[in-house]
Amino acid sequence: MNMASLLKSFTSLICILLTCLQTIGSTEHENPPRIAIIGAGIGGTSAAYFLREHFGPDVKIDVFEKRSVGGRAATILFNDEQYEAGASIIHPRNMYMVNFTKLFGLEPLGGAESGKLGIFDGKDMVFSTSDWGVVTMAKMVWRYGWDVFSIRSYINDHLFTEFLKIYDIQSLGYSFTTVADLLLAMNETFVELTKKSIDDVLKDAGFSERFINEFVMGALRMNYGQKLGLPAFVGSVSLAAAGESGLWSVKGGNKLVPQKLLESSKATLIEATVTKVTFQDDVGPMYEVEYAKNSDGKDAGPNRREYDVVIIATPLHDKVTDIKFEEFPKPIHNFPQPFHTTVATFVEAKPNISYFGYSEVCHFPDVVFTCDKDLYFNSIGKHHPVEGTSETESENKNSIYKIFSNAVPTVQQIDNLFADKNDLRIVEWLAYPQYNIGDELPPFVLHDQLYYINGIELAASALEMSAIGAKNIANLIVNHWTGNMDKIDEFSWRDESLKTDKTEL
Ligand SMILES: Cc1cc2nc3c(=O)[nH]c(=O)nc-3n(C[C@H](O)[C@H](O)[C@H](O)COP(=O)(O)OP(=O)(O)OC[C@H]3O[C@@H](n4cnc5c(N)ncnc54)[C@H](O)[C@@H]3O)c2cc1C
Repeated sequence: MNMASLLKSFTSLICILLTCLQTIGSTEHENPPRIAIIGAGIGGTSAAYFLREHFGPDVKIDVFEKRSVGGRAATILFNDEQYEAGASIIHPRNMYMVNFTKLFGLEPLGGAESGKLGIFDGKDMVFSTSDWGVVTMAKMVWRYGWDVFSIRSYINDHLFTEFLKIYDIQSLGYSFTTVADLLLAMNETFVELTKKSIDDVLKDAGFSERFINEFVMGALRMNYGQKLGLPAFVGSVSLAAAGESGLWSVKGGNKLVPQKLLESSKATLIEATVTKVTFQDDVGPMYEVEYAKNSDGKDAGPNRREYDVVIIATPLHDKVTDIKFEEFPKPIHNFPQPFHTTVATFVEAKPNISYFGYSEVCHFPDVVFTCDKDLYFNSIGKHHPVEGTSETESENKNSIYKIFSNAVPTVQQIDNLFADKNDLRIVEWLAYPQYNIGDELPPFVLHDQLYYINGIELAASALEMSAIGAKNIANLIVNHWTGNMDKIDEFSWRDESLKTDKTEL
């Protein structure tokens, strides 16, 4: 063999080797990955559930949780009964939450946030519904024209019809590497809605200033403790719940859903705080996760485990989580947006109806939104135990009220609101992002095989949003791991004829 043909054979050998390596790079992995999930809220536990569904019994899944399974779906014991302290209402069209509840044989409890509604501007109850439907209708039209009715069809046409497509897209196995790409797959305008304020969008659509300043503002303050400058996407999610009569919660507590998801995923729960994720290399297990077990004493050394895939299922924002990422080729930091403080105050009391301009308790609304941006509370409402209302409430008996505010209320403020009080309990949350127009939407992929569910909260924070983020990441992991690249960021409406409203898990 002369030198030229030797060189030619060598070059062909290199080509064959490179082709083999490329093929391995996209479709290798005969065995399922070893997966760590950091956080056992609805996001982390639904990711565990979806991954078990995809990979079957052989996949090893560890779920780390530093406090309690459920995360922001949590209850508190107050007056011998459990009450929702965090996420309390679920929309009837939140398909993952609806289907999980059915799947685990849990019971939906209707009537969440129901009863008479009032809107208070800090001085007067500017609007209130009545026990009589006809009277309520007349009052609504008198104050807001047809806007209260039009908003339902507006949200339906501009949000829901398009939003529901995500269930079909995801059931076909498609996945997206950024939150913006996921929103774009549902509808081309959704990313635009994160860059405009809800009041501008509604004004352009012809809604009146009074309706926006009172009703819309009240709903935004109630759901996110924030005001009219809120981006239109999260604003629309907030309005979807306002005035919806089918809102529900899970009997026994919404946290039962993440608990059941974890149980059914057969993942191993590690009750520990993850302190560090270290990138090792891409030959062996890619990551080392360092954690301190909740049961270990202060001086116990850190524990370490290795994984192929790590999922961050908690917000990466200052004060919420402090996980260090080390040895990565490019640094990974927390995202810059602060998290909004929401305080839930539970009071067993009678409302101070005169403060709201009422003289008879029987006319006082069950739920009050507030529409003054500087008022010290966002909403106040009668709150029922997670098992449902057991007793018949009499006019003489105190009820349990839940107040939402952006800071811990003072004694004077509580005294303003209640004439008589027996008991009080406060839960302070770093609840959801402090939303701003044009906030950058985070990626779902922070590095190869390092995924981030909670980026989706920058679009809107809700139980269903985290479940959608989790399903996206489960699809991403499956597609990356099996080399199915045409289902990553490649969704096209032209290729798929989709049906909505029929989705099952
Ligand atoms: C007051 C309030 C009211 C709300 N109302 C509603 C509502 O009515 N309806 C609705 O749909 N949504 C509501 N939400 C929003 C909803 O609760 C959240 O969007 C949702 O629960 C987020 O779930 P998640 O799993 O993504 O995050 P989380 O529930 O926050 O779960 C993250 C978990 O990670 C754990 N963790 C964090 N860091 C570490 C670490 N280093 N190591 C180990 N574990 C760690 C945390 O302890 C936590 O359990 C509300 C939220 C609040 C606070």
